[in-house]
Amino acid sequence: MRPGPESTPDTPEFRPDIPTQTETIVRQVHLPAGVAGPTEISFDVRCFVVPMSDGIVVIDTGMGDNATDIQQTLELLGAGWADVSDVVITHAHVDHVGGLNEVLSSRRNAVVWAGEADAGAVTSGILSSETLVRAAADGASIRGLRVIHTPGHTQGHISLLHEAEGLAVRR
Ligand SMILES: [Zn+2]
Repeated sequence: MRPGPESTPDTPEFRPDIPTQTETIVRQVHLPAGVAGPTEISFDVRCFVVPMSDGIVVIDTGMGDNATDIQQTLELLGAGWADVSDVVITHAHVDHVGGLNEVLSSRRNAVVWAGEADAGAVTSGILSSETLVRAAADGASIRGLRVIHTPGHTQGHISLLHEAEGLAVRR
């Protein structure tokens, strides 16, 4: 029996069984009425731990108490803080950058990235004078993650495309 056109060798197979390696840390935040407006608000804060071939990239750092969650996620991957090569901040809001000092105290030499227009605000929140925030330009590649400038929410907001997995990471 002749194979149908869908099984010709040139046609790449769709393989939905490939697990994504990106680990997502989700934490619920509740702010009582009066803190960020007249009513109570709840929202998710997300961080991502993305193992790449030459380092682990942490995307966003949460509100300020997420280092333990990030460490547990690293351990699940059989890794530790020393394997974190880069920390990418999608934008300079406190629910994304608030945990950066805590992360840097565990991994002092990580390279920190932020979108060009937000890099200054991220820098101003860092306590360690040794840490340099690099501007992640549109189209740049961070260990295989493609930077896409997506302004609007903030001027320097960036999203990241995991090109090998075809996976977009955004806030
Ligand atoms: Zn925001």
